[in-house]
Amino acid sequence: MQTRIDVNGGKDNAIVVGAGHVGIACAHYLERDGFNVTVIDQGAIGGGCSRANCGLLSPSHVLPLTTPDALWSGITSLLTPGAAFRFKPQLRWSLYRWMFQFVRRCTHRRMLAAGHVLKPLLDASSREYTALFGDPAIDCDARDSGTLYVFRTQKALDDYASTDRLLREHFGLGARRIEGAELPVFDAALRTGLAGGYYYDIDRHLRPDRLNASWSRHLRERGVTFMERTRLYAIDKSGAQIAGLVTSQGRLTADRYVFATGAWSGQLAKDLGVDIPIEPGKGYSVTMSQPAVMPAHPMLFPEAHVAVTPFSDGYRIGSMMEFVGFDASIPGHRIRKLEAAAAPYLEYPTGPAIEDTWSGWRPMTWDSLPVIGRVPGLSNALLATGHNMLGMTLAPVTGKLVADLVAERPTDLPIDALSPARFA
Ligand SMILES: Cc1cc2nc3c(=O)[nH]c(=O)nc-3n(C[C@H](O)[C@H](O)[C@H](O)COP(=O)(O)OP(=O)(O)OC[C@H]3O[C@@H](n4cnc5c(N)ncnc54)[C@H](O)[C@@H]3O)c2cc1C
Repeated sequence: MQTRIDVNGGKDNAIVVGAGHVGIACAHYLERDGFNVTVIDQGAIGGGCSRANCGLLSPSHVLPLTTPDALWSGITSLLTPGAAFRFKPQLRWSLYRWMFQFVRRCTHRRMLAAGHVLKPLLDASSREYTALFGDPAIDCDARDSGTLYVFRTQKALDDYASTDRLLREHFGLGARRIEGAELPVFDAALRTGLAGGYYYDIDRHLRPDRLNASWSRHLRERGVTFMERTRLYAIDKSGAQIAGLVTSQGRLTADRYVFATGAWSGQLAKDLGVDIPIEPGKGYSVTMSQPAVMPAHPMLFPEAHVAVTPFSDGYRIGSMMEFVGFDASIPGHRIRKLEAAAAPYLEYPTGPAIEDTWSGWRPMTWDSLPVIGRVPGLSNALLATGHNMLGMTLAPVTGKLVADLVAERPTDLPIDALSPARFA
């Protein structure tokens, strides 16, 4: 079977592979530019890592994972049973190469350099979200509640003070420091006796599954086609172009192809002829009905590596980073660990009923930067992937950049640092 995605008032056609936050955002901006867009996904819309993440829009999150102390805290975690970070030895050379490249980047200088690439992307994405939320069709429980970082021990609070200073000096990001005694006044869900916190009022949060549902519905109404359970098997090339996609629903062709395939992107490397060193970084979340006292703000507990997010109709705890390949299991002890991690901070750390337990694979790059740009050697193909822990936050700017690149519009964003060619 051959399907030509085609003939819609003479418009050019684009196929986006992957219907996560990033693929949906790419479809949004391409449709706005007049493309006739089809989005395909091997599963359901928003069924990958974009389904039940923590829902934080974090323009404050400028520092990459590659910090000078990441190596030490990684080693400590490996020696601590039940730690948030876990690594399973695997017979894959690409994983050890990834780790080596990651460790090489854990210097102060390279951390700041990555932060300076992320900052304008985060700011631009935040502006795009503001515009998107102005559209009544987007119904995703979005709220401007900031993010509160909470610390149990004075040492951890004092240590964070140097990060706060660095964020102020290098990125102009000011947080409000909240002393321990003031915390339960600031948010009644918090226990007494905590050391203190830092509050970033520029952050927002939303319910990710509702974002996917309302955004894709809105795009459908604008003529975008979504093909669920349509798996990309192979990419047909003809010279310096993609000629078509071989999928479980037959052959699909278009003028432009965007690969927003998240943690799976590395599997396309051979077909696309480009190195895409992306590893799946597995995380978990548990979604519950609302606890007796709901946090008024999303919170991060950095000592426990856990985040809690309040929704109007629920409450979520999420965390963990496991390099265990594409292992889809959700062990009960990892979920109990999440719940236990929130207990020292919150009067009511859990809600009465568990509604959902979930795991997702973050698309992890070794330099903590996304991969957005043209595929070298293929004039009609672009990659939009590798968003690490920030895929929801960075989705709109990614979609906008993809549309700008396709239209050859100039951008003042640091696009070279995101290029797929950087791994060559
Ligand atoms: C516990 C946890 C908490 C998180 N919290 C946050 C947060 O608070 N804020 C934030 O910004 N980010 C957060 N993230 C990160 C964020 O979820 C990811 O960065 C983001 O979802 C990546 O989006 P994506 O569209 O690139 O990938 P995905 O959502 O995984 O989408 C990729 C899609 O491609 C499809 N696909 C892949 N291969 C093929 C193929 N061959 N054929 C067809 N389809 C294919 C997949 O089925 C999938 O649906 C969190 C992640 C985790 C695990």
